[in-house]
Amino acid sequence: MENAVIIGTGCAGLTAAIYTARAELQPLVVSGTMPGGLLTTTTIVENYPGFAEGIDGTQLMVQMQQQAERFGARVRYGTVESVDASADPIRLTIDGDTVETLSLIVASGASPRRIGLESETKLETKGVTYCATCDGALPMFRNQPLVVVGGGDSACEEATYLTRFGSVVYLVHRRDQLRASKIMAERTLANEKIKPIWNTVVTEVLDTKADKVTGVRLRNVQDGSESELEAAGLFVAIGHVPNTHLFEGQLEMNSGYLVPKNGRETSAPGVFVAGDCADYIYRQAVTAAGQGCEAAIDAERFLAAVSHSQKT
Ligand code: NAP
Repeated sequence: MENAVIIGTGCAGLTAAIYTARAELQPLVVSGTMPGGLLTTTTIVENYPGFAEGIDGTQLMVQMQQQAERFGARVRYGTVESVDASADPIRLTIDGDTVETLSLIVASGASPRRIGLESETKLETKGVTYCATCDGALPMFRNQPLVVVGGGDSACEEATYLTRFGSVVYLVHRRDQLRASKIMAERTLANEKIKPIWNTVVTEVLDTKADKVTGVRLRNVQDGSESELEAAGLFVAIGHVPNTHLFEGQLEMNSGYLVPKNGRETSAPGVFVAGDCADYIYRQAVTAAGQGCEAAIDAERFLAAVSHSQKT
């Protein structure tokens, strides 16, 4: 029987691991399919406090894991296949093995929605990115034309942020109206460095032969006309998909995101949540880490209360 199982080894999961390990709960941390989480897909992380010169995303996650392991966390490289969140104790299947636990911290993250192009996959980290805050300031994007795809708050936020670095930011949206909130849309369209391209989709990222982004091929969805646009970066901001399918019908969700209450609790006793799988607003490494800490403290208090009630 485990005291605490943590699903996810991103910032939220590993911070929860550090705290639960230091509380001597010997947490079992399950890596999932992307050990280290989304930060491992970025190069230099410049906005995580404590690293004046920035730190490589993978390096940061390796250090977080080592920190958790130093206090007794056990990282298992594997995938959680199913969870019975209402069982007492909570029951999981991890790569075919049944594991029972008194508490569970869900830090399974979210995956950026992809456009779904082959060239997009091939040029990821070579100019295609899903996080302007993480990558926008890289030298390769400085004073270069950049393309943002999407029409929601994320796309507007990313486009506005990128005006600090790019020579011009093209905002490519599949309709002629932004989905973003009014204030965000107005602010975005008032920015002289942002050039909207309406009713248009990206059909190919150029240039896989050059092994870096040199531009995009576009198609106007109204008249079918095709064109090419020169750019050094493609920032895809068409939403995120929280990794919460295991909990459908078990935990309260809002548009696929788990809903925290009373701190980091969920609708199932003993199950806590942290990071991008429950956060559609901030989605930063440092906020995920903070939520991981909160979830660990909540889990620790839950376990202490259970243990106390069993003794009395
Ligand atoms: P979103 O609101 O779902 O917008 C996604 C955008 O991407 C939409 O404009 C959508 O087009 C477009 N899109 C989706 N799939 C596409 C595809 N396959 N190809 C091309 N375009 C595609 O996602 P979001 O902007 O990430 O925002 C998610 C939530 O977080 C929202 O509730 C938002 O308000 C919130 N948020 C808030 C803030 C803030 O308050 N500061 C910042 C970021 C996000 P259509 O419009 O045609 O559907």
